Amino acid sequence: MTGARLRLSLRTTLTLWYSAILLAILVAIGAVSYSWLSWSLHQDLDASLLTVAQVIKDTGSSDVSGESDALLRQLLGPELYDKFFQFLDSEGRPHGRREGGKAEVLPLSPQARARAARGQRTIETVVLPGPEPVRLLTLPVVREGRVTEMIQVGMALRRTLAVRDRYFDTLMVLIPLGVGLAALGGAIIARIALRPVDEMASTARRITAEDLSRRVEGRGSGDELDRLADTLNGMLARLEDAFGQTRRFAADAAHELRTPLTALRGGIEVALRMERTPEEYRRVLASSLEEVQRLVRLAEDLLLLSRSLAGPEGVRGPVDLEPFVLEVFELGARLGQAAGVAVRVDATAPLATRGDGGALRRALLNLVENAVKYTPRGGKVEIALTRADGVAEITVADTGIGIDADEIERIFEPFHRLEAARAYDTGGAGLGLAIARSIVIAHGGTITVESTPGAGSRFTVRLPLA
Ligand code: ADP
Repeated sequence: MTGARLRLSLRTTLTLWYSAILLAILVAIGAVSYSWLSWSLHQDLDASLLTVAQVIKDTGSSDVSGESDALLRQLLGPELYDKFFQFLDSEGRPHGRREGGKAEVLPLSPQARARAARGQRTIETVVLPGPEPVRLLTLPVVREGRVTEMIQVGMALRRTLAVRDRYFDTLMVLIPLGVGLAALGGAIIARIALRPVDEMASTARRITAEDLSRRVEGRGSGDELDRLADTLNGMLARLEDAFGQTRRFAADAAHELRTPLTALRGGIEVALRMERTPEEYRRVLASSLEEVQRLVRLAEDLLLLSRSLAGPEGVRGPVDLEPFVLEVFELGARLGQAAGVAVRVDATAPLATRGDGGALRRALLNLVENAVKYTPRGGKVEIALTRADGVAEITVADTGIGIDADEIERIFEPFHRLEAARAYDTGGAGLGLAIARSIVIAHGGTITVESTPGAGSRFTVRLPLA
């Protein structure tokens, strides 16, 4: 997906979601308010019908008398407007006065008649012949415990329905209009909010492996986008660092390869310059073999380093550490004998970790080899395997030349060798500790070193228990 399409779809998605939610809210509010309006209009109408019916009941009877009619109009005023009423006898037959715009007889439903017989009033909506329904109240008049007659008051629902319908029409216009305007506003806001992301994306697009020093610019407002810029910049810094290390590594490796190759070429060229005795040829070949062995060792170390950086190989089953420590001790003791350094095992414990046994043995051997290598004659090296704080701890301590405090972190970098160690140089390329560290880290462990220059060093490897 291209950046442009992603931006567009995010903006559209946000706007669509926003509009859909707003639409749902407005429809819900519209539906509730419409029902409420309709209900309260009916309530008002019913209350008004009841008032009129009560007044009619109180002011007069079915007698046709101009006096009571005038009184009624005086009492009710505009309340009577638009209403019509009629009297029925206790059997439901119309009799007496009938008022209002309706010429025809108001109907009496069986339910209303039944309820009236029980002295209860009924309000219902009935459809008379005509275009519109009518709200009709049937009120029984009870005298001396008997229903003597009934008053029916009706009113056309035209106005009520018109008010309700007009409200519905208003909603039908306002809701889509509101949602449309909100969607437009939402789209504009989304565009403004996402603009910094566009800018970041275009800066990020300009950053290549060759130019990792560029950084994404934040706006300094401390918001989410600034945090995103910080995160990206942190990642770029780490990448820049990693690329730098890789470049340095390649240059150092080339340099290390060049030295033995130059020596090889020089020796061979000199040998070929003139006819030599078999003895001289043998000498040249012997020194060439030394250089080749150095090259082979370097190639093997480089391969080992790149493999261990890629993670442990082979089965990641449990690995007993005690036999390793003893095996490495034996090898170290042999080296120590030749160098006049006493190597001994301080403590061991039956501990196991998970991982690649061969790689771990290699890492440990590198530490012991170094300890013997950088310890002058008469010194000693102590190896120990103990359990500490729920991890397996292997220490290799020597009484050798030690390491300066400001160099302590750098000794784990590939090809890094200290000046003080040059006198003890045995042709190592400075990859031993880098290999050891990458193996230990790939096993979820740590490797640390404490050292006093001139007094010795102590390397500690901590590995998780199996
Ligand atoms: P190499 O031993 O081949 O030079 P390493 O990676 O094993 O490379 O070690 C890197 C450097 O760390 C060494 O050159 C040496 O200067 C220093 N070093 C390693 N182990 C010790 C030690 N036990 N005592 C003092 N210096 C050490």
